[in-house]
Amino acid sequence: MNLLPRRYHRIKQVLEKRQPDLTVLTEDVHKPHNLSAIIRTCDAVGILDVHSINTTDEFPTFSQVSQGSDKWIFLHTHPDIKTAINHLKRQKFKIYAAHFTDKSLDYRDIDYTQPTAILLGAEKWGVSKQAANLVDGHIIIPMLGMVQSLNVSVAAAVILFEAQRQRLAKKMYDTSRLDSDKYQKILFEWSYPNLAIRYQQKGEKYPSLGENGEIIV
Ligand code: SAM
Repeated sequence: MNLLPRRYHRIKQVLEKRQPDLTVLTEDVHKPHNLSAIIRTCDAVGILDVHSINTTDEFPTFSQVSQGSDKWIFLHTHPDIKTAINHLKRQKFKIYAAHFTDKSLDYRDIDYTQPTAILLGAEKWGVSKQAANLVDGHIIIPMLGMVQSLNVSVAAAVILFEAQRQRLAKKMYDTSRLDSDKYQKILFEWSYPNLAIRYQQKGEKYPSLGENGEIIV
């Protein structure tokens, strides 16, 4: 039943780098391979929560592209863009839409060490007018070629790795940024996913874990 110490320490290492104040909101990004690639990038950058709305008829599913990274990210779906944006604003996120307008700033001019959410638009239509009006600012990745936009998952990666660069420079990955209760809860759920469900069903508190991830009863 106990997991291998090596896996437990790897899980701890990853969790200690998670950035609860950096997130992504996808608006009608519905192609599974795009969503999966975004999730995979989020995992690499240390994002814990991804927010999503989907008003298209196509239901996103995770394909193999995410390489299982969706297990290490919490995906929150919201009924509409206003609800999603309000939810993030209540948590004090500044929301930047990756969106082409005459007000757009170069994506490198943003301070991503502050609580930041990046809004990404649909493959075909981009960010909706409603969303563009509700966010705190617009950012662009300068395009110098013939094509006017990047694939949405590529745009996500470019912006998120700039956020990672800034956060590394500020040593924001050096110590755990999660509060202790949340950290312990997620650590148990990632270490023992099936057991965690059984504890939840019984309405019981998770047991403590020892130095190498062993369950202490
Ligand atoms: N025709 C759409 C438009 O005009 O917005 C293109 C959508 S693009 C394929 C999908 C999403 O990727 C965009 O909504 C945006 O969030 C992001 N994106 C793509 N290229 C970008 C760039 N150069 N700068 C900022 N965001 C970009």
